[in-house]
Amino acid sequence: MKQLANVVKKGGRRILNVLYPPKCLICEVILAPDEYGCCHSCAGKLPFIEPPYCLKCGKPVYSAETEYCMDCQKQSHVFTKGIALWSYDEQVRKAVYRFKYKNRREYAGYFGEELIKRYGRQMRGWDADAVIPVPLHKKRLKRRGFNQAELIAKEIGRRLEVPVEPDMVFRIVNTRPQKELNEKERHKNLKNAFKISKNVVKLKKIILVDDIYTTGATADAIARLLLRAGVEKIYVVILCIGKGY
Ligand SMILES: [Zn+2]
Ligand SMILES: [Zn+2]
Repeated sequence: MKQLANVVKKGGRRILNVLYPPKCLICEVILAPDEYGCCHSCAGKLPFIEPPYCLKCGKPVYSAETEYCMDCQKQSHVFTKGIALWSYDEQVRKAVYRFKYKNRREYAGYFGEELIKRYGRQMRGWDADAVIPVPLHKKRLKRRGFNQAELIAKEIGRRLEVPVEPDMVFRIVNTRPQKELNEKERHKNLKNAFKISKNVVKLKKIILVDDIYTTGATADAIARLLLRAGVEKIYVVILCIGKGY
């Protein structure tokens, strides 16, 4: 029965691929059979984060002698450590826009795969109890139909074989988008914006997933609550991140 289901599933996917052939998430050209997510030409130009990067938040830094980025030199974070896949440049910004606002949910598979390809070993070493996406407020979730961070979290959790827990952290205040605010306003905007479930007590090490990281205010706001509930380590996994210099 399972085999039959798989055949139907595969066949279905093949039909879907004919009707809606997968396109490059950057240039939107139809992908060749040996390409996945992104065409070879665009993949070579993507701003993957390479060392040297900030030891705390994962932002690229200017030189190998620089341990921490400008942000992390100015303010300390409460999360344990962060890693990120890409710098937030124009092509990535457009792809993330389509992912979030044009319902291109299928991008999540590629994002998850690339994150694991680069950081899988490190992530496995963290030995996390759960993968938790940064939540959306229920009003925004209803409007968008999905939480982009949860889609990425599921792709990571599946590959790491770590349970994904989307109902451990809630956004109880429908905050203004962080990108519209300055640093001071960001912290104020997020104060009391989140709430955590009592079930968090059984978790010691958590991977927190989000699509974009700018100053780390969101990650800190959630990490603060988790630490207070007894979580010991909070690792932050990010799809795209600003520059650290
Ligand atoms: Zn392309
Ligand atoms: Zn940093």
